Amino acid sequence: MVKRRSMVVGLAALPLVSLGAGLFTQTWAQETALTGDTVTTAAGDITIHPVHHASLLLGFGDQVIYVDPVGGAAQYAGLPAPTAILITHGHGDHFDVPTLEAIAGDAPILTSKEVFDKLPETLKTNAKAIANGESGELNGISIAAIPAHNTTPDRMQYHPVGVGNGYLITLGDKVVYVAGDTEPTPEMLALTGIEVAFLPMNLPYTMTPEQAVEAINTFKPRIVYPYHYGESDLSSVESNVDDGVEVRLRDWYPTGG
Ligand code: ZN
Ligand code: ZN
Repeated sequence: MVKRRSMVVGLAALPLVSLGAGLFTQTWAQETALTGDTVTTAAGDITIHPVHHASLLLGFGDQVIYVDPVGGAAQYAGLPAPTAILITHGHGDHFDVPTLEAIAGDAPILTSKEVFDKLPETLKTNAKAIANGESGELNGISIAAIPAHNTTPDRMQYHPVGVGNGYLITLGDKVVYVAGDTEPTPEMLALTGIEVAFLPMNLPYTMTPEQAVEAINTFKPRIVYPYHYGESDLSSVESNVDDGVEVRLRDWYPTGG
């Protein structure tokens, strides 16, 4: 009887406490919750939030990883601040100093040598460069840099060998591959165990949807996001990938361009 009474007291006291916490959580969530597709891992869901063209956000636990943020601060209004930033290469649709200055805060940046050298000193203090083939970590997250470059002779000037990075991002027990601007490289084709792959498909800078399909059917990611596709016709991608690969077509150009 005594025990039951104390339980009632305990429960009665609880709503006051949780109401306060609930209000706080709600206010906080309205400002910072990341929405998007989800991918399950053993350590919680990954939230995938396309922003525009090559810019995307990955949420995982407390982490919000910005990949190739460009387009100015307004592009990121209402989104949670970055806890980490990855930049693939120095082209303007992937790397923009004013955007970084506006949004980066204290978030660590991992990028290519080319981009690192172009960062202003204030951003450089939180930044590190990683070369093709190297592994590292970004705010506790395991990252590997995969070569990102053209392979077709008359497109080599856009993305020469050894400059740009794609990234393998390990989140829980899953690996996300953000390819950057690339055609299918031997390193891409040799990948295994990729849960999510972001693959670019626009000419003349990256690959055709047909090249992408060939790559997908070779390294067999479980989920593919065509991104960085501009005006490309993606209608053949879904019907031509092997069974077992999920193609997620999303609108990466909600405001045009
Ligand atoms: Zn590029
Ligand atoms: Zn690009």
